[in-house]
Amino acid sequence: MTDRLLDVGGFQVAVKERPARTTMEITIERDGSLFVAVPAGTPDDPVRDFVDRKQDWIHRKLIEKADFLPVLPPREIVDGEGFMYLGRSYRLLLVDDQEVPVKLMRGRLCLRRGTADPAAAIRAWYRATGTGWLRRRMKPWADRVGVPGVEVVVRDLGYRWGSQSPGRLNIHWATLQLPPSLVDYVLVHELTHTHRADHGPKFWTRVERTMPDYRDRQERLKRAGAGIWLGRVTAHPRLGG
Ligand SMILES: [Zn+2]
Repeated sequence: MTDRLLDVGGFQVAVKERPARTTMEITIERDGSLFVAVPAGTPDDPVRDFVDRKQDWIHRKLIEKADFLPVLPPREIVDGEGFMYLGRSYRLLLVDDQEVPVKLMRGRLCLRRGTADPAAAIRAWYRATGTGWLRRRMKPWADRVGVPGVEVVVRDLGYRWGSQSPGRLNIHWATLQLPPSLVDYVLVHELTHTHRADHGPKFWTRVERTMPDYRDRQERLKRAGAGIWLGRVTAHPRLGG
């Protein structure tokens, strides 16, 4: 076993073996990435259990940081429950007959009754519906930030709005709940991280060059973030957590 990355409940965790250690220790780095120092030879399973037990602590720490979504109570799968898409609220409507599990129709988010995992179906709907929109939305920003040709992938990123890998920008599906002007802020912020990983003054100077009113959007994002659904529902308390 060597240094490696583990996926634990939507979090990417960097595992680093430290021969001098006898216990595991988790750290959240300045960029929000998670890092666990473990004794040499520790297998993956105990590391997963350890990170799993630390979830509450991780959530508390992450919401103190700028790049993270707030942790909110789960939604209920009942008629009338509100779901946001691109800044507009749509009431859930349970329907008996529908060719797909979820679709938007006449201003209602329609969910087929009896869908085995409603939360997963709604998350999948956000991804399927929003990916094309997000790709078109991102292109002009990617050009302006100077990363043309970057590919955008919509996925679950745990409690982060976005992350980067070479040639690729990952955006949390939950971002699609925000109004377009705030999705733009998330895109510019994440695109700028392809130039600078940290949040130092040079990072913000670059953000401002692309988006002069970014501070105002940041403030609005803090408020809008309070209404974001992260994919959990009361009937399935562990889903998407
Ligand atoms: Zn950031």
